[in-house]
Amino acid sequence: MNQGFDLVIVGAGPGGLAAAVTAKSAGMSVLVLNEQEHVGGQIYHSLEHVREENKATLGEDYLCGQKLISEFRSSAAEYIQGATVLDIDPNRYVCYAKGEKTYSVKAKQVIISTGSMERPVPIPGWTKPGVMGAASVDVLFKQADLVPSGNVVLAGSGPLLLLVACHLVDNGVKISAILDSSNYANYAKSIPYLPGAMQKSDYLIKGLQMLWKIRKSGVKFIHGVKNIEALGDGQLSSVKYTKNGKTREIQTGLLLLHEGVVPNTQLSRAIGCEHEWYDMHRYWKPVIDEWGQSSVESVSLVGDCSGVYGAKVAEYSGYIAGLNVAFQTGLITENERSVKASPHFLAKKKEMTIRPFIDSVYRPNRGMYVPDTPETIVCRCEEVKLRDIQAAIDIGYNLPLTVKNETRSGMGRCQGRMCGLTIAEILVDELDKSPEEIGYYSVRPMIKPVTLAQLGNMSITKNQS
Ligand SMILES: Cc1cc2nc3c(=O)[nH]c(=O)nc-3n(C[C@H](O)[C@H](O)[C@H](O)COP(=O)(O)OP(=O)(O)OC[C@H]3O[C@@H](n4cnc5c(N)ncnc54)[C@H](O)[C@@H]3O)c2cc1C
Repeated sequence: MNQGFDLVIVGAGPGGLAAAVTAKSAGMSVLVLNEQEHVGGQIYHSLEHVREENKATLGEDYLCGQKLISEFRSSAAEYIQGATVLDIDPNRYVCYAKGEKTYSVKAKQVIISTGSMERPVPIPGWTKPGVMGAASVDVLFKQADLVPSGNVVLAGSGPLLLLVACHLVDNGVKISAILDSSNYANYAKSIPYLPGAMQKSDYLIKGLQMLWKIRKSGVKFIHGVKNIEALGDGQLSSVKYTKNGKTREIQTGLLLLHEGVVPNTQLSRAIGCEHEWYDMHRYWKPVIDEWGQSSVESVSLVGDCSGVYGAKVAEYSGYIAGLNVAFQTGLITENERSVKASPHFLAKKKEMTIRPFIDSVYRPNRGMYVPDTPETIVCRCEEVKLRDIQAAIDIGYNLPLTVKNETRSGMGRCQGRMCGLTIAEILVDELDKSPEEIGYYSVRPMIKPVTLAQLGNMSITKNQS
């Protein structure tokens, strides 16, 4: 019998896998808990099972993940898939649900690598069947080889929107239009960051290639679009928007929205990590040091859940945090940690030179992520509308938590993941305060819904055999 694990990692994307490989090779006992049914996270989703004929479409950025996945598979780290981590208590008992049961496992160190999620885009009609996140469609393609049929409209901005559009083009999907919500002013504001971005000119070239492919395919790229609405009686039937003061409408059965991705902070919040506001992309991220160590003892964060910098940075951060936890457990010296981490710090630094430019060009558009029509649903689980939030603010509720208590926003199935940022932005606008003054929901365990069967089958496994 051993007393739990030296290290429990939450998430098997590039960040979690790299941390597992490193810590395991340093001699730690490692358990990786992953909610999805496969390793690889969002970017390398289903890579181990991808169909041969889809490889060309998904490209080298996807296929290169096989190396890391193979290293993980041969590392002998223990791995449980379909395991949703619900809580980590102050003594580092990691509680997770799998199937009909709930388990608790003791860890000396925890690394959280739960990735990011698409920023919710609460335009009028966004909850209608037929409206989806654009990146989710890519996940369906990777996972189940599914591609949409009929005419598709994409709306929003960001590199992932372009990537999804390219995949749709490659798959022969008819795109009626891409409604580009980006603000022209962003391009001018991004010029100071261009010299830094040139150090990763391969990304700039990839971006231009994606734009070229979309143009060459004849897809209409409509810039300067505002006031996007999803219309239809029950089901989506058309998309309305304005451009240069004129209103237009496109018939479609599928609208794919995207306004960037934001860190998945439910777990880091639930366990009390300190968070800071990243204004350029209007999201909260946990405060961590250069090794990924959070403000909570023996809990580190790597990858997109600690700030959205992409798959490569997630991987380098995973190696760095893996070395740090090995040092903290006494398996390597401080000097070994520094020597081994040095190439990863260098690679990470180089990789990050592109970020200020990308973040500046693709700043999220306020008109897309803060609703301004009273009937727009803000909290989709509890069907709370903007007017309900405004009414709560009018009678004096001035914090996300008190608005939640009054309106039930954030009390539904997603536990505020989908409306947390939006509610805070509405409060920022209505009360003319800063995001720091407004704050965020208090996220409490369990961070995801638990079934009665799981509650009834709770097994506190302090020891692993
Ligand atoms: C929908 C979506 C699609 C994306 N597609 C691409 C793409 O095609 N190309 C690209 O360059 N970038 C893509 N990104 C961005 C990309 O996710 C990251 O840059 C990269 O994958 C980050 O790696 P990570 O290890 O931080 O997290 P991820 O790769 O997101 O991995 C996180 C893992 O944590 C698991 N997890 C989350 N919560 C829990 C929990 N409570 N308990 C247990 N496990 C949990 C998830 O199941 C997942 O396996 C996408 C992002 C999203 C949101």
